[in-house]
Amino acid sequence: MSVSFRLLKQSKKSRARLGILKTPHGEVETPAFIPVATRASVRMLDTREIEALGSQMLISNTFHLHLTPGEKIVKKAGGVHGYMDWKKPVMTDSGGFQVFSFGFGRDHGVGKILKEEKEKSIETKQQPSQIKIGEDGVEFRSPINGDKLFLSPRESIKIQEAIGADIMFAFDECPSPLANEEYMKQSLEKTHRWAQMCLDAKKTKQGLYGIVQGGGFTHLRLESARIIGGMGFDGFGIGGEFGYDKKAMEKVVGAVTDALPKNLPRHLLGVGHPEDFAYTARAGIDTFDCIAPTHYARHGTAFTSKGKLDLKKAMMTQDFKPIDPKCSCPVCKTYTRSYISNLLRTHELTGMKLATMHNLYYFNALAKHIRKQIKNGEL
Ligand SMILES: [Zn+2]
Repeated sequence: MSVSFRLLKQSKKSRARLGILKTPHGEVETPAFIPVATRASVRMLDTREIEALGSQMLISNTFHLHLTPGEKIVKKAGGVHGYMDWKKPVMTDSGGFQVFSFGFGRDHGVGKILKEEKEKSIETKQQPSQIKIGEDGVEFRSPINGDKLFLSPRESIKIQEAIGADIMFAFDECPSPLANEEYMKQSLEKTHRWAQMCLDAKKTKQGLYGIVQGGGFTHLRLESARIIGGMGFDGFGIGGEFGYDKKAMEKVVGAVTDALPKNLPRHLLGVGHPEDFAYTARAGIDTFDCIAPTHYARHGTAFTSKGKLDLKKAMMTQDFKPIDPKCSCPVCKTYTRSYISNLLRTHELTGMKLATMHNLYYFNALAKHIRKQIKNGEL
């Protein structure tokens, strides 16, 4: 059995929708937040904890599992599910984003959303300093031992098949937000050609999502959505950057989902701070992943119903309330800000773990709230 999507309700107020994503490892109620399990682990947590905090599906990283321990070992352990003893659905990204972050992303120190207007623009045929983007794939050196490595659409699918996630992603070029329009156009052509190569290479019944790129150029995004949308994928990832701010992003993502088949699931790659949940759902997104809950927790920041809370502040040691009095996670039921703050301030790993547990629960609960709002006709 492969992957399928059932639309339960289409909002009358927006593009928001309720759905069920069916996979061989169970169903996911959408819209859903997907925690990032880069190396088949959500940092600080074990598999039982990830599940107890309300997570429905995980996204693991093809690139990192390929480097270590290698997909052969993951396969020997029964695929990613057996390897980490996770019974629920898993997605694997294709490694395309890592190519981006080792390439132009590293050269220019940019992320997905530009902080300023474009200063340095990336021209056609320009190559990043650390990797070589060719017509058939990407050459780069292992960040672990410096070995020469090559990743291509065929190679990525082969690795993802060995990892055995329920849903795989096509291998794409994730262009830098600094790319000019001509670069973006040529990059898109490559991404579309690579998408077909991924479909042709696939031998298993795993689900395969195509990826829509096009940067902040709405007309290129629409062209990409139309082409990728007509290729026979089981669903779609929407990747790359989308413009200078979240408003622009909502507009572009909404236009993209309008151009995609209605009966198939859409995943927004790498976007999902609490303030993104409502508008991405309104734009017609079904699933999305983000490292924010775990990353911020390790740096001492908790997400709460009143916004971000810096648990490392000295005054927190005098505060005997839970992280969020409105939260019903196991951490808020048990521990005080004072206790967790002192652990974090003294670099005790338990502090990072408790903050991670709260944040992950909070993100999953927020997605549940979004589903309720759609159900009640409020979003
Ligand atoms: Zn909590």
